Amino acid sequence: MSKTSSVIVVGAGIAGLAAASRLQSFGYSVIVLEGRDRIGGRIHTDRGWGVPVELGATWVHGMDGNPVIDLAQQWDLETVITDYENLWLHDTKGVVLEDDDQVELEEQFWEALDEVEELVEQMDEQNEADISLQTALDIVLSKWELSAQDRRELDYAIASLIEHEYAADSANLSAYYWDEGEEFDGEDCLFPKGYDQLVSTVAEDLDIRLEHSVQTVEYEQTGVRVLCQDATFEADYAIVTVPLGVLQAGSITFSPALPDDKQKAIHRLGMGALNKVVLRFPKVFWEKSAEVIGYIPKKKGEWVEFFNLYHTTGKPILVGFNAGSYARTLEDWTDEKIVAAAMQTLRTIYGAKVPDPTHYAVTRWGADPFAGGAYSFLATHATDEDYDTLAEPVGDRLFFAGEATSRQYAATVHGALLSGWREADRVHKLD
Ligand SMILES: Cc1cc2nc3c(=O)[nH]c(=O)nc-3n(C[C@H](O)[C@H](O)[C@H](O)COP(=O)(O)OP(=O)(O)OC[C@H]3O[C@@H](n4cnc5c(N)ncnc54)[C@H](O)[C@@H]3O)c2cc1C
Repeated sequence: MSKTSSVIVVGAGIAGLAAASRLQSFGYSVIVLEGRDRIGGRIHTDRGWGVPVELGATWVHGMDGNPVIDLAQQWDLETVITDYENLWLHDTKGVVLEDDDQVELEEQFWEALDEVEELVEQMDEQNEADISLQTALDIVLSKWELSAQDRRELDYAIASLIEHEYAADSANLSAYYWDEGEEFDGEDCLFPKGYDQLVSTVAEDLDIRLEHSVQTVEYEQTGVRVLCQDATFEADYAIVTVPLGVLQAGSITFSPALPDDKQKAIHRLGMGALNKVVLRFPKVFWEKSAEVIGYIPKKKGEWVEFFNLYHTTGKPILVGFNAGSYARTLEDWTDEKIVAAAMQTLRTIYGAKVPDPTHYAVTRWGADPFAGGAYSFLATHATDEDYDTLAEPVGDRLFFAGEATSRQYAATVHGALLSGWREADRVHKLD
Protein backbone atom coordinates (compact mmCIF):
# COMPACT_ATOMS: atom_id res chain seq x y z
CA MET A 1 0.00 0.00 0.00
CA SER A 2 1.82 3.14 -1.22
CA LYS A 3 -0.71 5.79 -0.11
CA THR A 4 -3.62 5.41 2.29
CA SER A 5 -6.04 3.48 0.12
CA SER A 6 -9.74 3.90 0.79
CA VAL A 7 -12.50 1.31 1.05
CA ILE A 8 -16.27 1.60 1.22
CA VAL A 9 -17.97 -1.29 2.95
CA VAL A 10 -21.67 -1.66 2.18
CA GLY A 11 -23.53 -3.14 5.15
CA ALA A 12 -22.77 -3.09 8.88
CA GLY A 13 -23.61 -6.71 9.62
CA ILE A 14 -20.90 -8.92 11.06
CA ALA A 15 -19.30 -9.51 7.61
CA GLY A 16 -19.04 -5.80 6.82
CA LEU A 17 -17.82 -4.88 10.28
CA ALA A 18 -15.22 -7.66 10.26
CA ALA A 19 -13.92 -6.53 6.84
CA ALA A 20 -13.88 -2.88 7.90
CA SER A 21 -12.09 -3.40 11.21
CA ARG A 22 -9.44 -5.62 9.64
CA LEU A 23 -8.77 -3.14 6.83
CA GLN A 24 -8.66 -0.26 9.28
CA SER A 25 -6.12 -2.17 11.38
CA PHE A 26 -4.02 -2.56 8.18
CA GLY A 27 -4.08 1.25 7.80
CA TYR A 28 -6.84 1.73 5.22
CA SER A 29 -9.29 4.59 5.34
CA VAL A 30 -12.68 2.86 5.67
CA ILE A 31 -16.29 4.04 5.63
CA VAL A 32 -19.16 1.64 6.34
CA LEU A 33 -22.52 2.52 4.78
CA GLU A 34 -25.53 0.96 6.51
CA GLY A 35 -29.15 1.30 5.40
CA ARG A 36 -30.74 0.66 8.80
CA ASP A 37 -30.64 2.90 11.86
CA ARG A 38 -28.62 0.26 13.72
CA ILE A 39 -25.62 -1.99 13.13
CA GLY A 40 -25.59 -5.80 13.33
CA GLY A 41 -27.96 -6.70 10.46
CA ARG A 42 -29.23 -10.20 11.10
CA ILE A 43 -27.70 -10.14 14.56
CA HIS A 44 -30.34 -8.11 16.38
CA THR A 45 -30.61 -8.16 20.15
CA ASP A 46 -33.79 -6.56 21.45
CA ARG A 47 -33.05 -4.98 24.83
CA GLY A 48 -36.61 -3.82 25.51
CA TRP A 49 -37.49 -6.89 27.64
CA GLY A 50 -35.32 -6.33 30.71
CA VAL A 51 -33.19 -9.22 29.41
CA PRO A 52 -31.56 -9.52 25.98
CA VAL A 53 -33.84 -11.22 23.45
CA GLU A 54 -32.40 -12.30 20.09
CA LEU A 55 -34.62 -11.48 17.11
CA GLY A 56 -31.99 -12.72 14.63
CA ALA A 57 -29.09 -15.10 15.29
CA THR A 58 -29.01 -16.80 18.69
CA TRP A 59 -26.38 -19.55 18.67
CA VAL A 60 -22.73 -20.10 17.91
CA HIS A 61 -22.85 -23.38 16.02
CA GLY A 62 -19.93 -25.61 17.02
CA MET A 63 -17.56 -24.07 19.54
CA ASP A 64 -14.31 -25.92 18.70
CA GLY A 65 -12.11 -23.69 16.55
CA ASN A 66 -14.99 -21.31 15.85
CA PRO A 67 -13.66 -17.76 15.28
CA VAL A 68 -16.72 -16.30 17.06
CA ILE A 69 -15.66 -18.20 20.17
CA ASP A 70 -12.08 -16.97 19.75
CA LEU A 71 -13.38 -13.39 19.77
CA ALA A 72 -15.74 -14.09 22.68
CA GLN A 73 -12.82 -15.41 24.72
CA GLN A 74 -10.59 -12.52 23.73
CA TRP A 75 -13.28 -10.05 24.85
CA ASP A 76 -14.46 -12.03 27.85
CA LEU A 77 -18.03 -12.44 26.60
CA GLU A 78 -20.06 -14.90 28.63
CA THR A 79 -21.42 -17.95 26.79
CA VAL A 80 -23.89 -20.66 27.84
CA ILE A 81 -24.04 -24.08 26.19
CA THR A 82 -27.36 -25.17 24.70
CA ASP A 83 -28.55 -28.75 24.98
CA TYR A 84 -31.11 -29.28 22.20
CA GLU A 85 -31.75 -32.76 23.58
CA ASN A 86 -33.27 -31.15 26.64
CA LEU A 87 -36.46 -31.32 24.61
CA TRP A 88 -39.99 -31.98 25.78
CA LEU A 89 -41.75 -33.25 22.71
CA HIS A 90 -45.54 -33.10 22.74
CA ASP A 91 -47.73 -35.11 20.41
CA THR A 92 -50.58 -33.63 18.37
CA LYS A 93 -52.90 -33.74 21.40
CA GLY A 94 -50.27 -32.18 23.66
CA VAL A 95 -49.17 -35.31 25.55
CA VAL A 96 -45.42 -35.61 26.15
CA LEU A 97 -43.82 -38.39 24.09
CA GLU A 98 -42.05 -41.10 26.09
CA ASP A 99 -38.24 -41.08 25.79
CA ASP A 100 -38.28 -44.42 23.95
CA ASP A 101 -40.75 -43.07 21.39
CA GLN A 102 -38.57 -40.02 20.85
CA VAL A 103 -35.51 -42.18 20.30
CA GLU A 104 -37.42 -44.37 17.88
CA LEU A 105 -38.61 -41.32 15.96
CA GLU A 106 -35.07 -39.98 15.63
CA GLU A 107 -33.85 -43.39 14.45
CA GLN A 108 -36.56 -43.47 11.78
CA PHE A 109 -35.63 -39.98 10.68
CA TRP A 110 -31.94 -40.88 10.25
CA GLU A 111 -32.88 -44.11 8.48
CA ALA A 112 -35.00 -42.13 6.02
CA LEU A 113 -32.07 -39.79 5.38
CA ASP A 114 -29.72 -42.74 4.84
CA GLU A 115 -32.11 -44.09 2.22
CA VAL A 116 -32.33 -40.65 0.62
CA GLU A 117 -28.54 -40.60 0.41
CA GLU A 118 -28.53 -44.00 -1.34
CA LEU A 119 -31.19 -42.79 -3.77
CA VAL A 120 -29.21 -39.63 -4.53
CA GLU A 121 -26.03 -41.67 -5.13
CA GLN A 122 -27.91 -43.80 -7.66
CA MET A 123 -29.28 -40.67 -9.33
CA ASP A 124 -25.79 -39.24 -9.51
CA GLU A 125 -24.39 -42.41 -11.12
CA GLN A 126 -27.05 -42.09 -13.78
CA ASN A 127 -26.43 -38.37 -14.23
CA GLU A 128 -29.99 -37.53 -13.32
CA ALA A 129 -31.08 -33.95 -12.76
CA ASP A 130 -31.54 -32.59 -9.25
CA ILE A 131 -34.85 -33.09 -7.45
CA SER A 132 -36.03 -31.58 -4.18
CA LEU A 133 -35.19 -33.21 -0.88
CA GLN A 134 -38.93 -33.61 -0.24
CA THR A 135 -39.40 -35.49 -3.53
CA ALA A 136 -36.51 -37.77 -2.54
CA LEU A 137 -38.05 -38.30 0.91
CA ASP A 138 -41.44 -39.04 -0.65
CA ILE A 139 -39.88 -41.67 -2.94
CA VAL A 140 -38.22 -43.31 0.06
CA LEU A 141 -41.19 -43.08 2.42
CA SER A 142 -43.68 -44.36 -0.16
CA LYS A 143 -42.02 -47.76 0.34
CA TRP A 144 -42.47 -47.64 4.10
CA GLU A 145 -45.61 -48.68 5.90
CA LEU A 146 -46.49 -45.61 7.89
CA SER A 147 -49.69 -44.75 9.75
CA ALA A 148 -50.94 -41.14 9.51
CA GLN A 149 -49.51 -40.53 12.98
CA ASP A 150 -46.11 -42.07 12.03
CA ARG A 151 -45.96 -39.77 9.03
CA ARG A 152 -46.92 -36.75 11.14
CA GLU A 153 -44.11 -37.58 13.53
CA LEU A 154 -41.59 -37.94 10.72
CA ASP A 155 -42.81 -34.67 9.22
CA TYR A 156 -42.22 -33.05 12.60
CA ALA A 157 -38.63 -34.36 12.62
CA ILE A 158 -38.08 -33.13 9.05
CA ALA A 159 -39.42 -29.69 9.97
CA SER A 160 -37.52 -29.42 13.22
CA LEU A 161 -34.19 -30.95 12.19
CA ILE A 162 -33.97 -29.84 8.56
CA GLU A 163 -36.40 -27.07 7.67
CA HIS A 164 -35.69 -24.96 10.75
CA GLU A 165 -31.95 -25.36 10.31
CA TYR A 166 -31.96 -24.49 6.61
CA ALA A 167 -34.86 -22.00 6.85
CA ALA A 168 -36.51 -23.65 3.86
CA ASP A 169 -39.14 -26.24 3.03
CA SER A 170 -37.61 -29.59 2.12
CA ALA A 171 -39.61 -29.11 -1.11
CA ASN A 172 -37.20 -26.29 -2.00
CA LEU A 173 -33.91 -27.83 -0.88
CA SER A 174 -31.62 -29.55 -3.37
CA ALA A 175 -31.54 -33.32 -2.86
CA TYR A 176 -27.95 -33.28 -4.13
CA TYR A 177 -26.52 -30.39 -2.17
CA TRP A 178 -28.83 -29.39 0.70
CA ASP A 179 -26.36 -30.35 3.42
CA GLU A 180 -23.06 -29.44 1.74
CA GLY A 181 -20.91 -27.19 3.83
CA GLU A 182 -18.86 -27.77 6.91
CA GLU A 183 -19.40 -27.46 10.63
CA PHE A 184 -17.21 -26.79 13.60
CA ASP A 185 -17.17 -29.58 16.17
CA GLY A 186 -18.26 -29.15 19.74
CA GLU A 187 -21.31 -27.85 21.49
CA ASP A 188 -23.51 -24.92 20.47
CA CYS A 189 -23.74 -21.95 22.78
CA LEU A 190 -25.39 -18.57 23.07
CA PHE A 191 -24.57 -15.20 24.59
CA PRO A 192 -26.83 -14.71 27.63
CA LYS A 193 -25.89 -11.03 27.68
CA GLY A 194 -26.66 -10.57 23.99
CA TYR A 195 -25.13 -11.39 20.59
CA ASP A 196 -24.90 -7.65 20.01
CA GLN A 197 -21.89 -7.54 22.36
CA LEU A 198 -19.93 -9.24 19.57
CA VAL A 199 -21.16 -6.75 17.00
CA SER A 200 -20.45 -3.64 19.03
CA THR A 201 -16.95 -4.80 19.91
CA VAL A 202 -16.05 -5.52 16.27
CA ALA A 203 -17.54 -2.11 15.34
CA GLU A 204 -15.46 -0.10 17.80
CA ASP A 205 -13.67 2.91 16.26
CA LEU A 206 -15.18 2.43 12.81
CA ASP A 207 -16.69 5.24 10.73
CA ILE A 208 -20.20 3.90 10.23
CA ARG A 209 -22.87 5.98 8.48
CA LEU A 210 -26.29 4.71 9.54
CA GLU A 211 -29.43 5.32 7.44
CA HIS A 212 -27.31 5.36 4.30
CA SER A 213 -29.15 2.97 2.05
CA VAL A 214 -26.98 2.28 -0.98
CA GLN A 215 -28.79 2.53 -4.30
CA THR A 216 -26.01 2.31 -6.89
CA VAL A 217 -22.50 0.94 -6.98
CA GLU A 218 -20.41 2.14 -9.93
CA TYR A 219 -17.04 0.53 -10.49
CA GLU A 220 -14.27 0.99 -13.02
CA GLN A 221 -10.57 0.22 -13.27
CA THR A 222 -9.49 3.12 -11.09
CA GLY A 223 -12.02 3.01 -8.26
CA VAL A 224 -15.63 2.96 -7.13
CA ARG A 225 -18.46 5.41 -6.59
CA VAL A 226 -21.30 4.49 -4.24
CA LEU A 227 -24.57 6.42 -4.36
CA CYS A 228 -27.10 6.74 -1.54
CA GLN A 229 -30.21 8.90 -1.74
CA ASP A 230 -28.55 12.09 -0.44
CA ALA A 231 -24.84 11.39 -0.62
CA THR A 232 -22.17 9.99 -2.93
CA PHE A 233 -18.95 8.37 -1.76
CA GLU A 234 -15.81 7.56 -3.73
CA ALA A 235 -13.03 5.14 -2.83
CA ASP A 236 -10.40 2.85 -4.28
CA TYR A 237 -12.38 -0.29 -3.42
CA ALA A 238 -15.86 -1.39 -2.37
CA ILE A 239 -16.83 -4.50 -0.43
CA VAL A 240 -20.54 -5.29 -0.76
CA THR A 241 -21.89 -7.39 2.13
CA VAL A 242 -25.65 -7.04 1.69
CA PRO A 243 -27.73 -10.22 2.12
CA LEU A 244 -28.48 -12.52 -0.82
CA GLY A 245 -32.15 -11.45 -0.50
CA VAL A 246 -31.15 -7.84 -1.26
CA LEU A 247 -29.10 -8.90 -4.29
CA GLN A 248 -32.01 -11.06 -5.52
CA ALA A 249 -34.45 -8.15 -5.17
CA GLY A 250 -32.17 -6.00 -7.35
CA SER A 251 -32.51 -3.04 -5.00
CA ILE A 252 -28.89 -2.05 -5.64
CA THR A 253 -27.96 -1.17 -9.21
CA PHE A 254 -24.46 -2.17 -10.24
CA SER A 255 -22.86 -0.26 -13.06
CA PRO A 256 -21.68 -1.97 -15.17
CA ALA A 257 -24.13 -4.81 -14.46
CA LEU A 258 -22.73 -7.79 -12.57
CA PRO A 259 -21.35 -10.60 -14.75
CA ASP A 260 -23.86 -13.13 -16.00
CA ASP A 261 -22.50 -16.05 -13.98
CA LYS A 262 -22.77 -14.06 -10.74
CA GLN A 263 -26.34 -13.03 -11.53
CA LYS A 264 -27.28 -16.62 -12.30
CA ALA A 265 -25.76 -17.81 -9.02
CA ILE A 266 -27.65 -15.10 -7.12
CA HIS A 267 -30.93 -16.38 -8.50
CA ARG A 268 -30.16 -20.12 -8.26
CA LEU A 269 -29.39 -19.96 -4.57
CA GLY A 270 -32.34 -19.80 -2.17
CA MET A 271 -32.99 -17.15 0.47
CA GLY A 272 -34.69 -18.86 3.36
CA ALA A 273 -37.23 -17.69 5.89
CA LEU A 274 -37.06 -18.19 9.64
CA ASN A 275 -39.17 -16.08 11.97
CA LYS A 276 -39.63 -15.80 15.67
CA VAL A 277 -42.54 -14.92 17.91
CA VAL A 278 -41.40 -13.81 21.34
CA LEU A 279 -44.03 -14.19 24.06
CA ARG A 280 -43.72 -12.97 27.61
CA PHE A 281 -46.15 -14.38 30.18
CA PRO A 282 -47.09 -13.45 33.75
CA LYS A 283 -45.50 -16.72 34.92
CA VAL A 284 -44.00 -19.97 33.64
CA PHE A 285 -46.66 -22.60 32.85
CA TRP A 286 -44.39 -24.93 30.87
CA GLU A 287 -41.60 -27.34 31.81
CA LYS A 288 -39.24 -24.95 33.60
CA SER A 289 -36.09 -26.98 33.02
CA ALA A 290 -36.76 -27.68 29.32
CA GLU A 291 -34.64 -25.86 26.75
CA VAL A 292 -36.84 -26.77 23.80
CA ILE A 293 -40.56 -27.48 23.67
CA GLY A 294 -41.43 -29.49 20.58
CA TYR A 295 -44.86 -30.05 19.12
CA ILE A 296 -46.03 -32.53 16.50
CA PRO A 297 -48.63 -30.49 14.60
CA LYS A 298 -51.52 -31.68 12.50
CA LYS A 299 -50.25 -29.59 9.62
CA LYS A 300 -46.64 -30.11 8.60
CA GLY A 301 -44.25 -27.41 9.75
CA GLU A 302 -46.60 -25.27 11.86
CA TRP A 303 -45.37 -24.24 15.34
CA VAL A 304 -43.09 -27.24 15.85
CA GLU A 305 -40.70 -25.52 18.21
CA PHE A 306 -40.62 -23.10 21.14
CA PHE A 307 -37.41 -22.18 22.98
CA ASN A 308 -37.64 -21.61 26.71
CA LEU A 309 -35.85 -18.38 27.61
CA TYR A 310 -36.58 -18.99 31.29
CA HIS A 311 -33.66 -21.39 31.11
CA THR A 312 -31.11 -18.64 30.41
CA THR A 313 -32.85 -15.44 31.54
CA GLY A 314 -35.01 -16.49 34.49
CA LYS A 315 -37.94 -14.65 32.83
CA PRO A 316 -41.18 -16.30 31.68
CA ILE A 317 -40.47 -15.90 27.96
CA LEU A 318 -41.01 -18.39 25.12
CA VAL A 319 -39.78 -17.95 21.55
CA GLY A 320 -41.75 -19.76 18.86
CA PHE A 321 -39.99 -20.49 15.54
CA ASN A 322 -41.44 -21.00 12.07
CA ALA A 323 -39.50 -21.66 8.87
CA GLY A 324 -39.91 -21.82 5.10
CA SER A 325 -43.24 -21.23 3.40
CA TYR A 326 -45.24 -21.20 6.66
CA ALA A 327 -42.96 -18.45 7.98
CA ARG A 328 -43.54 -16.47 4.77
CA THR A 329 -47.31 -17.02 5.01
CA LEU A 330 -47.36 -15.68 8.57
CA GLU A 331 -45.54 -12.53 7.46
CA ASP A 332 -48.76 -11.39 5.75
CA TRP A 333 -50.77 -11.82 8.95
CA THR A 334 -51.23 -9.18 11.64
CA ASP A 335 -49.19 -9.57 14.81
CA GLU A 336 -52.39 -10.34 16.73
CA LYS A 337 -53.32 -13.17 14.37
CA ILE A 338 -49.82 -14.66 14.58
CA VAL A 339 -49.83 -14.50 18.38
CA ALA A 340 -53.32 -16.08 18.45
CA ALA A 341 -52.01 -18.98 16.32
CA ALA A 342 -49.07 -19.47 18.68
CA MET A 343 -51.41 -19.39 21.67
CA GLN A 344 -53.69 -21.99 20.09
CA THR A 345 -50.73 -24.38 19.97
CA LEU A 346 -49.63 -23.58 23.51
CA ARG A 347 -53.19 -24.11 24.77
CA THR A 348 -53.36 -27.45 22.97
CA ILE A 349 -50.22 -28.45 24.84
CA TYR A 350 -50.79 -26.86 28.25
CA GLY A 351 -54.57 -26.44 28.45
CA ALA A 352 -57.18 -23.73 27.98
CA LYS A 353 -56.18 -21.89 31.15
CA VAL A 354 -52.86 -20.71 29.74
CA PRO A 355 -52.84 -16.90 30.15
CA ASP A 356 -52.42 -14.46 27.28
CA PRO A 357 -48.93 -13.02 26.88
CA THR A 358 -48.30 -9.63 28.45
CA HIS A 359 -45.80 -8.62 25.74
CA TYR A 360 -44.90 -10.00 22.34
CA ALA A 361 -42.67 -9.36 19.34
CA VAL A 362 -42.90 -10.80 15.85
CA THR A 363 -40.12 -10.86 13.25
CA ARG A 364 -40.61 -10.55 9.48
CA TRP A 365 -37.16 -11.14 8.03
CA GLY A 366 -38.60 -11.94 4.59
CA ALA A 367 -40.40 -8.61 4.24
CA ASP A 368 -37.41 -6.71 5.64
CA PRO A 369 -36.00 -4.72 2.67
CA PHE A 370 -32.50 -4.92 4.18
CA ALA A 371 -32.58 -8.71 4.48
CA GLY A 372 -35.15 -10.30 2.14
CA GLY A 373 -35.11 -13.45 4.26
CA ALA A 374 -33.21 -15.13 7.07
CA TYR A 375 -30.24 -16.80 5.36
CA SER A 376 -29.23 -18.58 2.18
CA PHE A 377 -29.78 -22.24 1.34
CA LEU A 378 -28.94 -24.61 -1.51
CA ALA A 379 -32.15 -24.68 -3.51
CA THR A 380 -33.00 -27.40 -6.01
CA HIS A 381 -30.68 -26.92 -9.05
CA ALA A 382 -28.22 -24.73 -7.12
CA THR A 383 -24.79 -26.12 -6.23
CA ASP A 384 -22.33 -25.11 -3.56
CA GLU A 385 -20.14 -23.64 -6.32
CA ASP A 386 -22.74 -20.88 -6.51
CA TYR A 387 -21.46 -19.64 -3.14
CA ASP A 388 -17.95 -19.37 -4.64
CA THR A 389 -19.29 -17.52 -7.66
CA LEU A 390 -20.99 -15.04 -5.34
CA ALA A 391 -17.72 -14.54 -3.49
CA GLU A 392 -15.71 -13.76 -6.63
CA PRO A 393 -14.55 -10.16 -7.01
CA VAL A 394 -15.55 -8.28 -10.14
CA GLY A 395 -12.36 -6.84 -11.58
CA ASP A 396 -9.90 -5.40 -9.08
CA ARG A 397 -12.21 -2.94 -7.32
CA LEU A 398 -15.47 -4.63 -6.35
CA PHE A 399 -15.57 -7.35 -3.70
CA PHE A 400 -18.28 -9.42 -2.03
CA ALA A 401 -18.64 -10.78 1.49
CA GLY A 402 -21.52 -11.97 3.66
CA GLU A 403 -22.84 -15.36 4.73
CA ALA A 404 -23.99 -16.27 1.22
CA THR A 405 -20.42 -15.96 -0.05
CA SER A 406 -19.18 -18.67 2.31
CA ARG A 407 -19.18 -22.07 0.63
CA GLN A 408 -17.91 -23.69 3.82
CA TYR A 409 -20.07 -21.96 6.42
CA ALA A 410 -23.02 -20.29 4.67
CA ALA A 411 -26.04 -19.23 6.75
CA THR A 412 -24.05 -18.65 9.92
CA VAL A 413 -22.51 -15.81 11.88
CA HIS A 414 -19.06 -17.41 11.74
CA GLY A 415 -19.36 -17.85 7.96
CA ALA A 416 -20.18 -14.16 7.61
CA LEU A 417 -17.35 -13.12 9.93
CA LEU A 418 -14.79 -15.23 8.08
CA SER A 419 -16.01 -13.91 4.72
CA GLY A 420 -15.39 -10.33 5.90
CA TRP A 421 -11.84 -11.15 6.92
CA ARG A 422 -11.33 -13.06 3.65
CA GLU A 423 -12.25 -10.03 1.54
CA ALA A 424 -10.21 -7.63 3.68
CA ASP A 425 -7.19 -9.86 3.06
CA ARG A 426 -8.01 -10.06 -0.64
CA VAL A 427 -8.10 -6.27 -0.98
CA HIS A 428 -4.88 -5.94 1.00
CA LYS A 429 -3.10 -8.48 -1.19
CA LEU A 430 -4.15 -6.71 -4.38
CA ASP A 431 -3.45 -3.19 -3.18
C1 LIG B 1 -34.00 -15.43 12.60
C2 LIG B 1 -32.56 -15.76 12.34
C3 LIG B 1 -31.91 -16.68 13.13
C4 LIG B 1 -30.56 -16.97 12.91
N1 LIG B 1 -29.93 -17.82 13.77
C5 LIG B 1 -28.60 -18.01 13.65
C6 LIG B 1 -27.89 -18.70 14.66
O1 LIG B 1 -28.45 -19.12 15.67
N2 LIG B 1 -26.55 -18.88 14.47
C7 LIG B 1 -25.88 -18.42 13.37
O2 LIG B 1 -24.66 -18.62 13.25
N3 LIG B 1 -26.55 -17.71 12.42
C8 LIG B 1 -27.87 -17.48 12.54
N4 LIG B 1 -28.53 -16.73 11.62
C9 LIG B 1 -27.81 -16.26 10.43
C10 LIG B 1 -26.89 -15.09 10.76
O3 LIG B 1 -27.61 -14.12 11.46
C11 LIG B 1 -26.35 -14.49 9.47
O4 LIG B 1 -25.74 -15.51 8.68
C12 LIG B 1 -25.32 -13.39 9.69
O5 LIG B 1 -25.66 -12.54 10.75
C13 LIG B 1 -25.18 -12.63 8.38
O6 LIG B 1 -24.25 -11.58 8.50
P1 LIG B 1 -23.93 -10.70 7.21
O7 LIG B 1 -22.99 -9.66 7.63
O8 LIG B 1 -23.57 -11.60 6.08
O9 LIG B 1 -25.33 -10.07 6.79
P2 LIG B 1 -26.24 -9.02 7.58
O10 LIG B 1 -26.11 -9.20 9.03
O11 LIG B 1 -27.60 -9.10 7.01
O12 LIG B 1 -25.56 -7.64 7.20
C14 LIG B 1 -25.79 -7.00 5.99
C15 LIG B 1 -26.08 -5.53 6.26
O13 LIG B 1 -26.33 -4.87 5.02
C16 LIG B 1 -27.33 -3.90 5.26
N5 LIG B 1 -27.93 -3.52 3.99
C17 LIG B 1 -28.80 -4.20 3.22
N6 LIG B 1 -29.11 -3.51 2.12
C18 LIG B 1 -28.41 -2.36 2.18
C19 LIG B 1 -28.30 -1.23 1.33
N7 LIG B 1 -28.98 -1.14 0.17
N8 LIG B 1 -27.50 -0.21 1.72
C20 LIG B 1 -26.80 -0.26 2.88
N9 LIG B 1 -26.89 -1.31 3.72
C21 LIG B 1 -27.67 -2.35 3.38
C22 LIG B 1 -28.27 -4.59 6.21
O14 LIG B 1 -29.11 -3.68 6.89
C23 LIG B 1 -27.31 -5.32 7.13
O15 LIG B 1 -26.99 -4.56 8.26
C24 LIG B 1 -29.87 -16.37 11.83
C25 LIG B 1 -30.53 -15.45 11.03
C26 LIG B 1 -31.85 -15.13 11.28
C27 LIG B 1 -32.53 -14.10 10.43
